[in-house]
Amino acid sequence: MPTTTLILGGGVGGVVAAHTLRGKLPAAHRIVLFDRARDHLFAPSLLWLLVGDRTPEQIVRPLDRLQRKGIEVVHADIDAIDPAARTVTAAGQTWHGDHLIVALGAQLDASGCPGLAEAGHTFYTLDGARQARDAVRAFRGGRVVVLTAAPAYKCPVAPYEAAMLVEAHLRARKLAAPWQVDVYAAEAAPMGVAGPAAGAAVCEMLAGKGIGYFPQHQVTAVESTARSIRFENGAVADFDLLLYVPPHRAPAVVRAAGMCADSGWIAVDRLTLATRWPGVWALGDVTSIPLALGKPLPKAGVFAHGQADAVATNLARAVLGKGKAAVFDGTGECFIETGDGRAALGRGKFFAEPLPEMTLHEPSHALHLAKVVFEKGWLRRWF
Ligand SMILES: Cc1cc2nc3c(=O)[nH]c(=O)nc-3n(C[C@H](O)[C@H](O)[C@H](O)COP(=O)(O)OP(=O)(O)OC[C@H]3O[C@@H](n4cnc5c(N)ncnc54)[C@H](O)[C@@H]3O)c2cc1C
Repeated sequence: MPTTTLILGGGVGGVVAAHTLRGKLPAAHRIVLFDRARDHLFAPSLLWLLVGDRTPEQIVRPLDRLQRKGIEVVHADIDAIDPAARTVTAAGQTWHGDHLIVALGAQLDASGCPGLAEAGHTFYTLDGARQARDAVRAFRGGRVVVLTAAPAYKCPVAPYEAAMLVEAHLRARKLAAPWQVDVYAAEAAPMGVAGPAAGAAVCEMLAGKGIGYFPQHQVTAVESTARSIRFENGAVADFDLLLYVPPHRAPAVVRAAGMCADSGWIAVDRLTLATRWPGVWALGDVTSIPLALGKPLPKAGVFAHGQADAVATNLARAVLGKGKAAVFDGTGECFIETGDGRAALGRGKFFAEPLPEMTLHEPSHALHLAKVVFEKGWLRRWF
């Protein structure tokens, strides 16, 4: 009996799940992928876009290319999900699936912090990163502040990479006026889940570049005319250019569907990504997976990828009644761009107990090149 799988989201998790499933299921089984965006974005390259090393066109690919591979693509805003009935409503039409994979990512929402969106630029979206790049280009001197507006956000090292890349970029421009890059973070240390040694290594990298670091500074408001940031602890910071990471929450449609647990995200079995609704899986940034140390698994593409592999493998096995079962093992690695054509690499086993096990490889040109190769490979492999 041919089946229909509805995949919600054409980001990292959705695209990998669709491809892997298509490779395993005969053509009679429908795979339908939904996304409001026309293009898939390779988000790690937003950091290179920020400092003018990429154009927007270089880091996106049309989702429609998936159609050539036998994956149906629906470009529409998903308006409603009914996980019990396994239905999705978009563009006035309702689809029913035998299986549902929810990979809708995180919604970025600066609205809770007065003045933030007006005063700064976020490099976490394509449009925001483009505007941030123009603002960095126009910067002639003064103080750049990189701000995390909440302690938990996807790719926990990205704001630190942004600060190091901007510092290297401004240094190379040999500006006449004095300038400074500082990071104000809501969290207590960089990459909290990776442990104190990894956090200390990133702090050392920042200090080595003269970047000031002010952890545990939770922003409460930003005044765009005065160009100043107010924090919960009473501190005030002035800036000439503000680059920020907005607070994240589950997408509105997921919240409206009643799919979120107390964490504010979808609860899943951490090995299989199954939700409490039969035939419904959720993966990537829209989920929260608690770890033994009391914090959730960080939100990162490398995990969305591994989870999508496991979900697609098990789903195909259930449909075909053969094949090996797969589990998501909580391992992942991440490049850390440090500027000047160098990158470090962190590798972690995040399901290790009592604490995740991390190894950090020193910054090198070779690791930066490895990230470039990964970027090109990603865009070629899936599109
Ligand atoms: C600057 C930056 C750098 C990063 N660097 C790294 C890195 O080096 N390594 C790493 O592992 N991760 C990195 N990440 C994180 C990584 O990009 C995310 O964790 C990953 O994309 C999550 O995949 P996902 O499939 O869960 O969600 P996403 O990739 O965000 O995809 C969600 C999709 O759902 C769509 N969508 C949402 N709501 C709706 C709706 N209602 N209707 C229709 N479509 C909808 C969106 O348009 C989107 O395409 C970085 C992120 C940023 C912002």
